[in-house]
Amino acid sequence: MARVVALGTAAAVPDEGHANTYLAVEGEQGFFLIDCADSPLVRIQRAGLALERLRGLILTHFHPDHVFGVPILLMDIWLLGRAAPLPVYGLHDVLERFEAMMDLFRWREWPDLFPVPCRPVAEEVGALVLEDDEFRITGAPVEHMVPTLGLRVENKRSGGVVAYSSDTSPCDAVVALARGADILIHEAAKNTSGHSSAAQAGEVARRAGAGRLVLIHYRPAPWQYDRWLEEAAVAFGGPVELAQDFGEYVF
Ligand SMILES: [Zn+2]
Ligand SMILES: [Zn+2]
Repeated sequence: MARVVALGTAAAVPDEGHANTYLAVEGEQGFFLIDCADSPLVRIQRAGLALERLRGLILTHFHPDHVFGVPILLMDIWLLGRAAPLPVYGLHDVLERFEAMMDLFRWREWPDLFPVPCRPVAEEVGALVLEDDEFRITGAPVEHMVPTLGLRVENKRSGGVVAYSSDTSPCDAVVALARGADILIHEAAKNTSGHSSAAQAGEVARRAGAGRLVLIHYRPAPWQYDRWLEEAAVAFGGPVELAQDFGEYVF
């Protein structure tokens, strides 16, 4: 059994009940983080994930709300004695900035820091991010203000598929990533360049033939939730829900 846990669900501006959007993908051998925000150790613990089972970090793009938890994650697991390598996956632009950010913290001087190999992902639809005997994760560049990677996670054991739009305008790349997926987790920040509305997320889910749509990366605004869900459901024609912090999606 594998699950995706929403460790945060907010767009760039969080509130008390919604941390910035980032996800964990857990399988039998451990888990990967997709982006890293807020207080990652606290949230990883609260989600029932064992920190020593962290296998890698996938960064979708270099905006503060998606990467600001990375330095404290790396420092804390180093302080806790991690020795195993922690690979970081992302587009070349993102990995370059990730290393520059860590250089500001003088991470190369941290004694006995575990290896952090950078694994660049090609900027093309269907590019391989990583594959092991449990997961096959592929990506595609999506339409945001900066180079950004959308993702498709295939569970090789169950056959289940989860796609994640990352931050993007509605685009063909996400339709391709989510083709026939059981679950599409799509951002719903707003209808503006580089982002999507709930209705647009619904349209993408319909075009992809996804089984179920989960809206994430939204503005915490409870008075709007019913309207967003309805607009997405009308556009999609399938089941829609709003992700909640610590919500779990089995696939
Ligand atoms: Zn964002
Ligand atoms: Zn962004």
